[in-house]
Amino acid sequence: MKLNNKQIIELIETLKQAHPEATCSLDFNTPFEMVIAVMLSAQCTDERVNKTTPSIFNKYNKPEDFANIDITLLEKLIHPCGFYKNKAKNIKACSQKLISDFNGEVPTTMEELIALPGIGRKSANVIMLEAFNKPVGIAVDTHAKRVSNRIGLSSKTDPEKIEQDLLKIIPKEYIGDVNHLFVYHGRKICDSRKPKCDVCPINHLCAKNNVKLPK
Ligand code: SF4
Repeated sequence: MKLNNKQIIELIETLKQAHPEATCSLDFNTPFEMVIAVMLSAQCTDERVNKTTPSIFNKYNKPEDFANIDITLLEKLIHPCGFYKNKAKNIKACSQKLISDFNGEVPTTMEELIALPGIGRKSANVIMLEAFNKPVGIAVDTHAKRVSNRIGLSSKTDPEKIEQDLLKIIPKEYIGDVNHLFVYHGRKICDSRKPKCDVCPINHLCAKNNVKLPK
């Protein structure tokens, strides 16, 4: 079933009603803190990132603080978030680039964000939306990918291709809502192993009949 424009809007509005609490689940106070939180969230839960960052941001919350930090100390600080060696290297390099190329400020365009060490398209989308309230794309994480595939909004597996499919059909004014809604829907109802299709408020709009559920 290919959804028409009216059905796409119905789908998003229904999800908004079902998940009114759907917002960014990473804690941050400044765009730079958002950059650090997003980097730490790779392969890690937002919950764990939120438990780790307060004690770090109390002491270190500007690019200058991380640009010259002892790498072993940084690795120790971010250790609970996993992949700490790579993340520490990227946080330090990113902070140095922010100072050398952007006067210590987080840039406000996708192109500039993607050029920062450790920031890919998904992270840049999150930063544009959450730190600057300028949604230009849709962050496709594991939940957004699964929900998009199951509903039938995209048959692709590559997150960037799924994003392109979504951008073709989601009206501009809803772009900023989609990631949060799909993440919450994926966590609460469209579970990876046991989707609760019988109670799903968008089951009449979902290509669920084509969904191959895990055994
Ligand atoms: S009907 Fe089932 S597969 Fe479709 S979105 Fe809802 S829970 Fe997911």
